[in-house]
Amino acid sequence: MSLAEKRKAKRVNCATVCPDWGCRQPGEHEGIWVVGELEDGVISEPSLQMLTPARNVAQKLGTFVEGIVLGPEEAEAREAAEEMIRRGADRATVIVGEELADRIPAVLASAIASLADERRPDVILMSATMRGREVAPYIASLLRAGITADCTQFDVDEDSGDLFMIRPPFAAILLAYIKTPTRRPQIATARPNVFPMPPRDESREGPVEVKRATDYVRARPQMRLIRSEVLRKDEVPLEKAEYVVAGGKGIGTKEGFAALEALANALGGVVAGSRRAVDLGLVPHEKQVGQTGKSVRPKLYIAVGISGAAQHVIGIREAGTVVAINIDRDAPIFKSADYGIVADWHEVVPALLREIEARRR
Ligand code: FAD
Repeated sequence: MSLAEKRKAKRVNCATVCPDWGCRQPGEHEGIWVVGELEDGVISEPSLQMLTPARNVAQKLGTFVEGIVLGPEEAEAREAAEEMIRRGADRATVIVGEELADRIPAVLASAIASLADERRPDVILMSATMRGREVAPYIASLLRAGITADCTQFDVDEDSGDLFMIRPPFAAILLAYIKTPTRRPQIATARPNVFPMPPRDESREGPVEVKRATDYVRARPQMRLIRSEVLRKDEVPLEKAEYVVAGGKGIGTKEGFAALEALANALGGVVAGSRRAVDLGLVPHEKQVGQTGKSVRPKLYIAVGISGAAQHVIGIREAGTVVAINIDRDAPIFKSADYGIVADWHEVVPALLREIEARRR
């Protein structure tokens, strides 16, 4: 029997899996939802990336992927939903209304939870952006479901059809396979850049259903947006940078990081750091790469004076070419590197800079 057939024969029914308190809407659960986030009215890249694992899981379960988009403007939300379909969703639902303009997490979550109550999805996936990290736990709490944050992989339990939400636990040397067999929907987040962007297929079409926020928002906002300001930065965000020069404790000083900055500038990239470098105040936390920092996917990642702890290298899994510079030939970073330079960075970094400048002339 295929997994899809097994699941059909053994459909999860809330009334049987939640005997202690029961779901508010007993019945079957079906479909993989991806909640799409709007950034300046346009669907965000991290949301689209979540369609990659969603498609894989849906294929294994023999079910569909649905994009869920919330926003004040119907045209924008529809366009975002259509983009989700072009990138792999089979269908989409948008909830529109003025109530959603301020993007208050409790309000967004209440609309999604009401829709989930009505539709009973099997899985809800969200990107762990700043907003996703706030909204997803609200949804889980409203639906009395579990949530697994910062997953790095997803798979399906071949026997039960439960979703394996896979993530490194604290020390990052193991992978925890987490499932919530007695709760539906199964809710999980993954950080931006952990999954690749799905390809765009212009010919892909699917239905887009429009719902009104007034029918779904049940929460009274406990906060009010007074003012919002976009902090414009000239620099490319770390998650989008094509060239990253990252420094660790081995750099030692702010002056050392200034040398890395010069190298990054010469390459047209940005500087990042390990957690030790952040703890030492050498680089701001927003530039930390790794398990408790950001995942990056540059074409070139240069790790300078970084030992290569598991918690660090997990953030560079999607990087193209990795170059490591370290005085210790046994440093674990060399196992994750395509090119390794066993040397003192004080010699290598200025030499690289001189070479880049010479080639420019
Ligand atoms: P070290 O391990 O001290 O390494 C410094 C390196 O510099 C050494 O390999 C040394 O040989 C080299 N060096 C010294 N001098 C020179 C020189 N002159 N030239 C060249 N090389 C030199 N870490 C992260 O980075 N990101 C995370 O998100 C993260 N999350 C964590 C979450 C948890 C729950 C835990 C427990 C830890 C986490 N860590 C994280 C910390 C991680 O375990 C390591 O402690 C950290 O990555 C080490 O940073 P480092 O490589 O800069 O320092």
